[in-house]
Amino acid sequence: MDMVGDVKCYHCGHVSGQVEGTKESKETKLILTTFNPRPGYKGPKYKAGDRLRCERCEGPVFLEDLRKKPLDILPTGLPAGAKQPKRSRGKAA
Ligand SMILES: [Zn+2]
Repeated sequence: MDMVGDVKCYHCGHVSGQVEGTKESKETKLILTTFNPRPGYKGPKYKAGDRLRCERCEGPVFLEDLRKKPLDILPTGLPAGAKQPKRSRGKAA
């Protein structure tokens, strides 16, 4: 199952962004796949295998509020609840 959690600093409490990962079950380890920096993030860029540090003080971080990733994320740009266009104007096709 896909999980998402906040990357929070042990020292200053700053949230640098979110991580995404997968977990087979409650007993297995979370495998992190993606780091999504917060809007305006100015810290270092990470690649696979790097250890995440706090953007602000470079302190150690932990995952807070780890939760199931919502499945119903819609691509941006689509109107929410798009309706069928009404054909009541009588425009000839
Ligand atoms: Zn910090």
